[in-house]
Amino acid sequence: DAVDSAPAIVIGSGYGGAVAALRLGQAGIRTLVLEMGRLWNNPGPDGTVFCSTSAPDGRSMWFRNRTEAPLATFLWLDVVNRDISPYPGVLDRVHFDAMSVYVGRGVGGGSLVNGGMAVTPVQSYFSEQFPTVDATEMYGTYFPRARSMLGVNTIDRAWFESTEWYRFARTSRKAAANTGLKTTFVPNVYDFAYMRREADGTATRSALAGEVIYGNNHGKRSLDKTYLASALGTGNVTINTLERVREIRRAADGTYVLTADRIDVTGAVVETKQYGCTYLFLAAGSIGTTELLLRAREKGTLPALDASVGTGWGTNGNVMLARANHVWDTVGADESTIPVMGIDDWANADNPVFAEIAPLPTGLEHWVSLYLAITKNPQRASFTYDPSTDGVKLGWSAAQSAVSVSMAKKLFDRINTANSTIYRYDLFGAGSKVFADDFTYHPLGGCVLGRATDDHGRVKGYSRLYVTDGSLVPGNLGVNPFLTITALAERTMARVLSEDTAP
Ligand code: FAD
Repeated sequence: DAVDSAPAIVIGSGYGGAVAALRLGQAGIRTLVLEMGRLWNNPGPDGTVFCSTSAPDGRSMWFRNRTEAPLATFLWLDVVNRDISPYPGVLDRVHFDAMSVYVGRGVGGGSLVNGGMAVTPVQSYFSEQFPTVDATEMYGTYFPRARSMLGVNTIDRAWFESTEWYRFARTSRKAAANTGLKTTFVPNVYDFAYMRREADGTATRSALAGEVIYGNNHGKRSLDKTYLASALGTGNVTINTLERVREIRRAADGTYVLTADRIDVTGAVVETKQYGCTYLFLAAGSIGTTELLLRAREKGTLPALDASVGTGWGTNGNVMLARANHVWDTVGADESTIPVMGIDDWANADNPVFAEIAPLPTGLEHWVSLYLAITKNPQRASFTYDPSTDGVKLGWSAAQSAVSVSMAKKLFDRINTANSTIYRYDLFGAGSKVFADDFTYHPLGGCVLGRATDDHGRVKGYSRLYVTDGSLVPGNLGVNPFLTITALAERTMARVLSEDTAP
């Protein structure tokens, strides 16, 4: 077979992949990025790149016949999800036995679908999770570098206090204050100056038009506008889309050989390609990278991989839930999709929780306060390779999710008691489910830093093989993860480019 080769290949174009591509390109190393999703730049027949949340089409989800939004119902009615035609859409929900994982698909990975919250973790907890990483250097150099590269900004406080679009957050803040809980503003990569123009009616609405999980047509500084645009600007980086890497092996000369399937928009494999490289960066996300390495170890194409590959995975303790406010505590018919505030009870040693105050934009007053709680759930799971499907299974159990739920419940029981309010029972499907504990937005781990790799993401057992994505994070971080993933990737690239690639 013909082998296309490049000095460096990066698998995946999310945070870890985008950082690797830019820094390699700047170092003058010709780099090929392989991304299974599409490039989101061409408008569809309706004139927009991404479809709307209220009338989703095939662009919404990765090869589905029906959307699978996190909120299954509203007032118990199945009004949220829609039939769609299969297409390489931007949001995927990967199903395992007792847990499903939302991930972004496309050039920019999770940055295309996420809420943009760019949160720096509490330093003491970062050090607990990454005992071998120099925290002073992380907080002094790599977190600031990541924030500046990603275009992190904060909402204007006076505007926040006055605008109808954040009434939902102020109402949740009041309920937290009544409970004696602290709230904190959270920085974001959505351009708040643009959002204010949306509110003024001088710019096309995106965050103020319900757009987020199926992509933002405006306003969001996703990776294709930041790191990846700069990477392409170096002239040394190429991105191949709709190419899914299936197998990694090592040639006799120590270079890596990849097998990738190129698909068309129907999902049919139209070509199977071989690629060769000297330096290989795995950035397919926690699920993607772990699957690739586990398959390689178990099928014997990279037999020397460490036994810890596939272990140490967690959900960042994610639980989604909602409260019903009193009729006088309105949240407003207008809600921005971009979260800017969290309830910070992480310092509570008995029950550490950081709860993002999430929007539920429906265009109607619904009195719902929605939250994504991040709990300090210590449970971890492992992946196993399944030869019958050539895929992986995840050992996460419902009992492990119950640990997150009991932590979230402890906090929100307090909030409900202090405010004489109750939970909403109608949002998460049949059975009046109150705590959505069967999905996560924050898959973390599988190739944990310092275990499956050395302290800089060099994969144990092989040289010139690296991991730069969320699989390095040991299952929990206490905050939304992409800023940390970006900063760790910056740290890895600085080290690799100074030590490993010198001629
Ligand atoms: P990803 O961003 O997942 O990128 C991996 C890329 O690799 C993807 O583009 C994928 O298509 C590609 N890929 C996978 N396998 C292969 C393969 N075999 N071959 C080729 N390509 C492959 N985090 C925050 O910090 N703040 C938030 O507000 C926030 N909100 C979120 C909201 C939603 C709805 C979701 C789903 C996530 C959210 N997250 C948030 C999480 C954040 O997006 C992820 O933590 C982050 O994207 C992970 O980065 P990564 O580099 O590890 O991988």
